[in-house]
Amino acid sequence: PVTGAPSGPGTATHCPYCALQCAMTLTPGRAPDGMPALDVTPRDFPTNAGGLCQKGWTSAALLTSPERLTTPLVRDGAGVLREAGWEEALDLVARRMRRAREERGPDAVAVFGSGGLTNEKAYALGKFARVALGTSQIDYNGRFCMSSAAAAGNRAFGLDRGLPFPVTDLDASEAVVLVGANPAETMPPLMGHLDPARLIVVDPRRTATAQAALDGGGLHLQPAPGTDLALALGLLHVALVEGYVDAPERLAYRRERTTGWEEVRRCAARWWPERTERLTGVAAADLRKAAGALAGARRAHILTGRGAEQHSKGVDTVAAWIDLALALGLPGTPGSGYGCLTGQGNGQGGREHGQKADQLPGYRHITDPAARAHLARVWDVPEESLPGPGRSAWELLDALGTPDGPSALLVMGSNPAVSAPRSRRAVERLRALDLLVVADFVRSETAELADVVLPVTMWAEESGTMTSLEGRVLRRRRAQAPPPGVRTDLEVLHGLAVRLGRDGAEFPADHTEVFAELRRASEGGAADYSGVRPEALDAGEAVHWPAPRGRDGSGTPRLFLDRFAHPDGRARFLPVEHREAAELPDAAHPLYATTGRELQHYQSGAQTRRVPELAAAAPGAYVEVHPDTARRAGLADGDRARVVSRRGSVLARTRCVPTLRTDTVFLPFHYTGAGTANALTNPALDPVSRMPEFKLCAVRLEPAP
Ligand code: SF4
Repeated sequence: PVTGAPSGPGTATHCPYCALQCAMTLTPGRAPDGMPALDVTPRDFPTNAGGLCQKGWTSAALLTSPERLTTPLVRDGAGVLREAGWEEALDLVARRMRRAREERGPDAVAVFGSGGLTNEKAYALGKFARVALGTSQIDYNGRFCMSSAAAAGNRAFGLDRGLPFPVTDLDASEAVVLVGANPAETMPPLMGHLDPARLIVVDPRRTATAQAALDGGGLHLQPAPGTDLALALGLLHVALVEGYVDAPERLAYRRERTTGWEEVRRCAARWWPERTERLTGVAAADLRKAAGALAGARRAHILTGRGAEQHSKGVDTVAAWIDLALALGLPGTPGSGYGCLTGQGNGQGGREHGQKADQLPGYRHITDPAARAHLARVWDVPEESLPGPGRSAWELLDALGTPDGPSALLVMGSNPAVSAPRSRRAVERLRALDLLVVADFVRSETAELADVVLPVTMWAEESGTMTSLEGRVLRRRRAQAPPPGVRTDLEVLHGLAVRLGRDGAEFPADHTEVFAELRRASEGGAADYSGVRPEALDAGEAVHWPAPRGRDGSGTPRLFLDRFAHPDGRARFLPVEHREAAELPDAAHPLYATTGRELQHYQSGAQTRRVPELAAAAPGAYVEVHPDTARRAGLADGDRARVVSRRGSVLARTRCVPTLRTDTVFLPFHYTGAGTANALTNPALDPVSRMPEFKLCAVRLEPAP
C-alpha cells in the first residue's frame, strides 16, 4: 500500500544525509544475509531528477546495523557504560540537570543541537532549552556550517535563505560561479543542473567539481587558501574597468534596487589584476577571462559553500561575492541570483526554529522585543522568563566544565568530539563536565564520552519535516517501526520536560502537534511556515517558505523578485577589505592545511563510517599533498605522514596529487582517532557569525614512524 506517498508503492521520503534531500522510495526487502531490510529506489524529483549518490543508495544499511543502539546506557561507578532502562536513564538525567541548576543557576545546563534534526526536533529542542531548562546556553553544529553566509545574506538582502530560487533555475544559467563548493562529491545529483562548460570553480584544490569544469570547457581558479575575498574584489575590479557594470540594465538595477555602491566600488578599485594575482596566485589573464564569462552571461549565478565561509573573515568573504553579484544585477533577477549551498540535511530548517544561540523560532532575533513577546504568548510563559542570547557553538564547547561555564550538556544529533575545531580541546572540555547526555542511534565518539546515552530513532523510523537547500519544506515519512527499546527525540524531550516539572502537553511527542505549534510560532517571522499546510506536504506539493497563512500554493519559490527584505526594499552593498587569516604559515609550520569532505562520507562520519560499502571505499585518513612538497618532507605516495599544527597532530596516509598547490595540504574531516583532521584546525572565530576558521591553518609535514 502507498504510505502517504505522492504515487506508487512503498514509502516516499528523502535521503537522510545532505541538504539536496534527494527523493527516494523505501520498500521492504532483504539484506544480503537474508534478514529483512529496506530497499532504496531513487524517485524523480526536481532536485535529484531520479539520481542518488553512493551515500543515498546505501542509506538503509545503518538501520539494521549491529552497531545500532537499542538500550539506554548509563556510566557506572567503574566508569563503564552499562545498559539501563529508560525510566532509570531519564530520571538520572533530570535529577542531575535539576541539581546543576539549583547549585549554579539555569545556565549551568547547556544544549547542543544539529542541522540534521527535523524541523520539529529543532523547534522542540529550542523550546526545551528556553522553557524547560530556562537556559541561554544553546547552540548547534550549524554554527560550524552556514552561519557566515546566513549573516552576510541577512546584511545584504535583509533575509537569508540558502538558495532564494529553486535548484532547477540553474539548468538555464549561462555562467555559474562555485566558490568553495565541491558538489561533484558532496551532492553529486546537483551536477545534473550545472553545465560544466559554463562553470567557474573557485577552489584551492582541483576538486572533482573543478576537474569536471576543466574537462567540459569551464574554468578553475585556484587561489591560495584565505584569499578568495580578494579574488572577488579582483573580479569586481575587472568588471569595473571593462565597463561590465555600466550596462544600462545594471545601472538601473543598482539605482533602483540597491544602496552603498560607491563605497564598494572604492574597495574594488584597489584590486587591479596584477595585485590580485600576487596575493591569490590566480593569473590576471584567468581573472579577466572569468569576469568576462560571468558578465557576458544573460543568466548567471554565484553560489558559495563552506570554502568561502569557514574563515575568521567568512562573513566578509561571502559579502564580497554578494557585492560582485549585486554589481552585475543578479540577485532578485529572474533566471539569475546569488545563493549559498547549505550542507547538512536540514541545514536550512535547522537555523530557523530556535536552536541557535541568538534566535527564536521564525528566524527571529532573540533580542527583538516583539519576537520575545510573540514567543512568550505562543509558549504561554512570562516574557521576562525567556533567556537572552547564549554562547556560540565553539565558545560554548570551550567553556564546558570551567568555573563560569555549563557543567551539564545535552547533545542531540551531533558529534562535536570529531566535528569541532581544535577537537582535542573539545574532548577535554566534554570530559570535564559533571553530566554529558547524548541522544544518538550509534555510539559516536561523543557518545563514548557520555554519562548517559539515549538510543533514538533513525530517519526511516520517524516522521516529520525537513527544509531543503532551496527553502522547500519536505515530508519525512516513517517506513518501518524502530527497533524495540528505541524512542524518538521528541519522546526524549517530552520525558525530560515532564521530569523537570513541566506539563507534558507543552512538549508533545507527536510530530504533527509539534509542527502545528511550530507554524504558529513562526507566524509573522522571516521564515514563516504558518501557511505550510500538512495536507499539501502529504500530497507532495512544493512549498517554499515564507508561506504566510492564507496564501495557498507553493509559498515563495523565488525571493526578492520585486523587493529585497530590508524596510526600504533595497539590497545593501557591503564594503569589505581583505585581511589575513588568524594564522599564517611560518618557518615551523610552512604549509596551509585545509579540510573538506569526500564522496563516501557525511560530516563526522559517525553514520557513513559504519556503512560497510562506504567504509570499504573510503577507509581512513589521508593527506593530499603535491608530489614536490611530499618529496621535500621525505615522503612518497602511500607513506604514513604526521601533519602537525600549533594545536596537535594527525597521522594520515600520504596521497600525492600533482594538481594541488605546492603550499597547501588537504585532509578530509570524517575520520577519528589519530586521523581526526580537526585536531589541527584553528578555532579563531569570525567576529560576526562566530564561525571557526576550519578552512585554514598552518602545518608542517613529516614522516611518521
Ligand atoms: Fe542526495 Fe545528498 Fe543523499 Fe547524496 S547524500 S543521495 S546528494 S541527499
